[in-house]
Amino acid sequence: MLIDFHTHTTASDGALSPEQLVDRARSRGIQLFAITDHDTVAGYRAAAAYYSPSEGEMSLLAGLEFSCVWSGATIHVVGLGVDCTHPVLEQGVARLAAARIDRGNVIAERLEKLGFPGALEGALLAAGDSQLGRPHFAAWMVEQGHVADVGTAFDRYLGRGKPGDVKAFWPTLAEVTGWIVAAGGVAVLAHPLKYKLTRSKLHRLVADFKDAGGEAVEVVNGRQTPEQTRQLCRLALECALEVSLGSDFHRDGPWTAELGVELRHLGSLRGVWERWLPAIRSPGDPL
Ligand code: AMP
Ligand code: ZN
Ligand code: FE
Ligand code: FE
Repeated sequence: MLIDFHTHTTASDGALSPEQLVDRARSRGIQLFAITDHDTVAGYRAAAAYYSPSEGEMSLLAGLEFSCVWSGATIHVVGLGVDCTHPVLEQGVARLAAARIDRGNVIAERLEKLGFPGALEGALLAAGDSQLGRPHFAAWMVEQGHVADVGTAFDRYLGRGKPGDVKAFWPTLAEVTGWIVAAGGVAVLAHPLKYKLTRSKLHRLVADFKDAGGEAVEVVNGRQTPEQTRQLCRLALECALEVSLGSDFHRDGPWTAELGVELRHLGSLRGVWERWLPAIRSPGDPL
């Protein structure tokens, strides 16, 4: 059985519209599917307006992926099954939308100092109705011929530790986790290995996440090695957290994972999906 609890659409920085993503997920045979755009539920809302499943068809879950800061690092927290109309969530989303514009201004100022004027206008144009993010700055830099491709834009100007890596505007880990919980959702710590934290710092992050109401860690995020999956399952076990699985699909490409993750037996670990798929207990092989 395939599920996917981490995906992006054009409402943030994905390439497929919510409608196209739903069609893709259905054609892949996915049974339980969440749309988790960066800092917005607009992707889920459009998908839900387009798709209302009949009995036995793919279920669609409301979701989003909040950006936040913890101990100087940018962290992502996925919210699953949230009530999109909850005022706390709506205020949080509005705060992030404003933060993304303010941050965009700073990124543009920094790029201008490096000899690339007009970045904010360009990135906003690239973003259209989507939540503004560094990928839109990257797209603009490629379009202008400043860099050959998006990867180079991140490597030189926008990636971790580069001038365009501005995180001053994000809310705290405790805030975004609290918003998800208040809106009746399950908070999942996204891709814990991507933050490049030491083992002890990662355990501190997870402890603070749990204190804030976090319930699960993502043990599969797109393409990763079996050793990484084992490491993350150990983390979930040691910290007594549930686990989640997602492709983090943004677009087709040679390095990206296809939509859908095969559900596997998790030993004593509990999957967040058991809330929505109570009948499933021992699906297939161990992770
Ligand atoms: P932002 O939300 O504006 O901080 O942008 C984060 C997004 O940028 C991530 O979710 C990825 O989609 C993308 N991204 C981050 N690092 C890279 C990279 N090195 N190459 C390409 N895309 C990246
Ligand atoms: Zn993204
Ligand atoms: Fe992420
Ligand atoms: Fe993501």
